[in-house]
Amino acid sequence: MAARLKKGITMQEHFKKIIEALGEDITRDGLRDTPQRAEKALKFLTQGYQQSVKSIVNGALFESDSDEMIIVKDVELYSLCEHHLLPFIGKCHVAYLPQGKIIGLSKIARIVDMYARRLQVQERLTKQIAETVSEIVGASGVGVIIEAKHLCMMMRGVEKQNSVMTTSVMLGRFREDRRTRGEFLSLVQK
Ligand SMILES: [Zn+2]
Repeated sequence: MAARLKKGITMQEHFKKIIEALGEDITRDGLRDTPQRAEKALKFLTQGYQQSVKSIVNGALFESDSDEMIIVKDVELYSLCEHHLLPFIGKCHVAYLPQGKIIGLSKIARIVDMYARRLQVQERLTKQIAETVSEIVGASGVGVIIEAKHLCMMMRGVEKQNSVMTTSVMLGRFREDRRTRGEFLSLVQK
């Protein structure tokens, strides 16, 4: 049993009501435990609310005198669109130009996950990742590109099965210097 909040009803009870509102029989075998499972799933998919940049980075910053572009390609991305509570899934590419500090590569993937596992719009997600990486490593430039398919587009409404939405945020030298941006784009497209 889920812990009951002092006021109001639990997430499980809300899910039960939603399923009933669909006209379903909540007592049948396949659905009886669904509210509980749905709560667990939704809490996992939104666990980014419980995380912080500080706890994720946890000191994994290293000194480096390299100023060459560092790029992390094809980070898998699973998020939930805040307008429909449906998934959008795709890839995220992150690049930065260090000036003294670098960050462990797995930490970049975890930063992507932290923001993706919240209710999101793709544009804001892209910006949050770029600004966070920029802030943490003190980079002279950061570029982030997200390519994603939105189930709210694929399964309902316009039913555009193959449309991919691309968003990008370029900060610092990625914004100012066309050559830097071009290098990033050509590395991503390979
Ligand atoms: Zn949507």
